[in-house]
Amino acid sequence: MTQSFKLTYATMFNPPEELHTRFEDALAKVKANLGKEYGMIIDGKDHFSSDKFEDHSPVNTDVVLGVFQKGNAQDASKAMAAARKAFPAWSRTPWEERVALLRKAADLIDQRTFEIGAAMAMEVGKNRMESLGDVAESADLVRYSCHQLEKNEGYTVAMGRDPLAGYTAFNFSVLRPYGVWLVVSPFNFPTALTGGPVGAALAAGNTVVMKPATDTPWVVRLLAECFRDAGLPDGVVNYVTGPGSSLGQALIESPEVNGVTFTGSFDVGMKIFRDFAQGPYVRPTILELGGKNPAIVSRNADLERAAIGIVRSAFGLQGQKCSACSRHLIEEPVYDELPARLVDLTNKLAIGDPTDRKNYLGPVVNKSSYRDFQDFCQEISQAGTFLTGGNVLTDGDFGKGYFCAPTIAALPLDHRLWQYEMFLPITTVAKVSSLDVAMKIANDVNYGLTAGFYGSNEEAKYFFDQIEAGVTYANRPQGATTGAWPGFQPFGGWKGSGSSGKNAGGHYYLPLYMHEQIQTQVI
Ligand code: NDP
Repeated sequence: MTQSFKLTYATMFNPPEELHTRFEDALAKVKANLGKEYGMIIDGKDHFSSDKFEDHSPVNTDVVLGVFQKGNAQDASKAMAAARKAFPAWSRTPWEERVALLRKAADLIDQRTFEIGAAMAMEVGKNRMESLGDVAESADLVRYSCHQLEKNEGYTVAMGRDPLAGYTAFNFSVLRPYGVWLVVSPFNFPTALTGGPVGAALAAGNTVVMKPATDTPWVVRLLAECFRDAGLPDGVVNYVTGPGSSLGQALIESPEVNGVTFTGSFDVGMKIFRDFAQGPYVRPTILELGGKNPAIVSRNADLERAAIGIVRSAFGLQGQKCSACSRHLIEEPVYDELPARLVDLTNKLAIGDPTDRKNYLGPVVNKSSYRDFQDFCQEISQAGTFLTGGNVLTDGDFGKGYFCAPTIAALPLDHRLWQYEMFLPITTVAKVSSLDVAMKIANDVNYGLTAGFYGSNEEAKYFFDQIEAGVTYANRPQGATTGAWPGFQPFGGWKGSGSSGKNAGGHYYLPLYMHEQIQTQVI
């Protein structure tokens, strides 16, 4: 890529031409190689299960992207055993060596960005720039953990010396890894939300078992190959595939797991939290869960900026982002003008094959999401008004995939869908009489992930002070509630959106993967 261009979610709207040509070359290569069978990776080797499943593209469900292993409880315990066996040597590998290997993995992710991005566009239905962004972010997340470890000199800190007469005690605080770390990831950011936690766990000295969503085994396999090919010792990082309800559950119930990072829905996350608590003692449980993210628009807002930021955040990745902007609280004086602008911009969004550069929206990820979209639209039609959308798209090639029209609905504020994460290209708007009212409604949900605000600088201070969310933006055209980047906007949620209170890609994240030991030695 052009040396001076750094791809992030904030820069992706106007990339150099070279980025498109490289994506297209990679897409042709990837398309020539569809339908292959992929093993799991356990103890550095391909591992095959007796049951398999086909991975179909949501863009065209006739296309089989690959055949994957339907892992079971035996496969879960093999992967755990491999990670356990590898732990003593990996945890004692000097942190500088671990960092060097992980930087190699990050470089491989960079080198393979276009192939992995092309696969992601086909497997998730994510547009090409967002797919490339996801892969680029994965490499940056791995590097960020390396950088933190380096900056903190391996987290070994000399403490005060005991002031007692007669002997000298040297005291050190050392952060040390827990053991085997399980990473369970969702379909929507399959590489960043697998690679980020895997990178942190490994940098800290843990060994890892990763399980991707059933919708995205392919891109996560390509990611796992980057870690394998970087030369990490066998068993340090293992990749297993199969249903969450059986394989995932077996992993959670394994007595070998010392810590878990789960990113996904609130319901599954809370189940994991409760199940994990059945172990003999409390183990670290990092949960990154759903969102119901508001944008508040004041009467003093720059409406052009607000409209573009809101539409990008509501409909990027078809609204299937934990950070998607799904609630819009608009002050009365601008209520007529802003929704009209939102509708206008939404109706101009190009929908279709997400590998095609002109398309901003692709399909939703699977049949169940497609059905949910239709059910929610039915429910909305009984209580509110569609400003645009409200239907699935079935003409021509649309009929082969799960395409839905981006939908804006005006709904009464007491409707249940103001509280419920739909995770689809559906967003709701309402008129509010003041910023105080908007703030009360914005905070009156179980979630607290991201939030956006458009208004004066003075009002923005009030917004930051009052809003209950882990990632907050004011007056941002690149995205009202979306588009975080490691080292810039570390990502995590409050309340039902996350368990740790510390954001991924930020200062306080890596220590979550280690426990503290105080070492006092009397000389
Ligand atoms: P799910 O909760 O359905 O699945 C997430 C992962 O959990 C998948 O790998 C799934 O496997 C697995 N799983 C399911 N059941 C179990 C179980 N009993 N034990 C162990 N693992 C299990 O989420 P989605 O993939 O649909 O992702 C969307 C959700 O993720 C949304 O709620 C979104 O807000 C949230 N999310 C949160 C983010 C954050 O940073 N806070 C970021 C991105 C998404 P399988 O696919 O096989 O069922």
